[in-house]
Amino acid sequence: RDLYGAARRNSEGFNFADEAGVAALAQALRSAAVPTQAASLLAEGLPNSGPRYAITDPSDRRRRFGEWMALDVATVPAVLSAAARAQPAWAATPVALRADALDRAADRLEARRAEFLHLLVREAGKTLPDAMAEVREAADFLRYYATHARRLLSTPEVMNGPTGEHNELQLHGKGVFVCISPWNFPLAIFTGQIAAALVCGNAVVAKPAEQTNLIAVQMVRLLHEAGVPATVLQCVLGDGEVGAALCAGVGIAGVVFTGSVEVAQAINRQLAARPGAIATLIAETGGQNAMIVDSSALPEQVVKDAIASAFHSAGQRCSALRVLYVQEEIADKVEQMLRGAMQELAVGDPGLLETDVGPVIDDAALARLKRHADELRWQGRIVAEVALPQACAHGTYFAPTVARIEDIEQLDGEYFGPMLHLVRYRAKDLDQVIDAINATGYGLTLGVHSRIETTWRRVQARARVGNCYINRGMTGAVVGVQPFGGEGLSGTGPKAGGPHYLLRFVTERTLTVNT
Ligand code: GLU
Repeated sequence: RDLYGAARRNSEGFNFADEAGVAALAQALRSAAVPTQAASLLAEGLPNSGPRYAITDPSDRRRRFGEWMALDVATVPAVLSAAARAQPAWAATPVALRADALDRAADRLEARRAEFLHLLVREAGKTLPDAMAEVREAADFLRYYATHARRLLSTPEVMNGPTGEHNELQLHGKGVFVCISPWNFPLAIFTGQIAAALVCGNAVVAKPAEQTNLIAVQMVRLLHEAGVPATVLQCVLGDGEVGAALCAGVGIAGVVFTGSVEVAQAINRQLAARPGAIATLIAETGGQNAMIVDSSALPEQVVKDAIASAFHSAGQRCSALRVLYVQEEIADKVEQMLRGAMQELAVGDPGLLETDVGPVIDDAALARLKRHADELRWQGRIVAEVALPQACAHGTYFAPTVARIEDIEQLDGEYFGPMLHLVRYRAKDLDQVIDAINATGYGLTLGVHSRIETTWRRVQARARVGNCYINRGMTGAVVGVQPFGGEGLSGTGPKAGGPHYLLRFVTERTLTVNT
């Protein structure tokens, strides 16, 4: 039972150690019917044409397996008008029916898991365990927001007042939401944003990241099949220009954005400059995430958690570990064990079960990481590096790397990939370490490894971060268990998968009746 007393279960796990289950999954993946063409999904009658682009597999760029078509930016205003016309009827639909559509979508998603896994591996370069976790997270978001919406929106809250007067506080959908989502969680974050907006009675125009259009379009189709009207949920494919046109739309009620800080700030400025209504911005951006390890920590556990947090998912989570602070007394030992553990990391085709680290998303991401690692190499700072196997030659692979730096402030931004930085600190400088982390302005995740409770409590009290993890890895927040999201440059809140998320998608109205 969750906070609201409603029965709800997260999506079931998959046991990758079960040979029969894995064989059945492999068979399902081979026979999954997956689309190869993606185009915008618009309200009936709207023109849908624009330039076409190839879709390639990040693990082997020679493999072109599909095509997507961008929407002509001139069509954007018509898309938003259609959404605005459809929204009142959707808002007037009982919340239970809207929530039922999300529950149906979650069931269908689980039933059609194989095709989504296939797309996540081939279009986004996700490893199979990551892809599996992502399908589950998308289903969890659907059911979680459905459950909360039923509780929150079904009946208005009656307020106490004088005799002869009835007062109630109602929650209503705000209007049209633009949902702009990232390629690193092309199914879970895409679905979470849309589900929250829809279930509150808003119409949605979703724009997925250009790198992951097939997955997005397939999910929107599934939501339509589950009962969300096609005009209430439209999906627009395009680049940043299309995104900017959506955010400039007259009359939009809000924007939900997950992506870079720079784009979030640009959207914020754009919304602020518009005449008319003050639109809501819900932004979830990056992090410069650290883990602090004191001398009481268990080195084996530290290394296991640091490897998983920094390198799994190819380091392409905004929660991923970027800077590992180790107290000098155990730093040599941790460094040595880290080197050893890195040799065990299997980098390769994300479709193979033995793979730990797949490719990064595209050439631009790879080039930025390589430039950074080369710079550190010239400075003689590389501590460990995994040798890339020959099979990686045609994909956008970055070899997991550890480099020593002096402090977190030396980093000029987020390096979104399997790249870990190491800093040694003295016990007496712990407060300065936390202050330096805070001074980055980001505040997403923080890990602490210490067996001294007063130490980790002191760290958490001083750190300005959204999600703090003690003596464990710092990625993979679970819906309804670890509400996820940061502060400062890392985001506006409210936390995804938490009990307050939906409140930002509704407007409050008070009704007073003289009885
Ligand atoms: N929620 C994810 C996690 O806890 C990260 C989401 C993101 O990368 O945007 O790892």
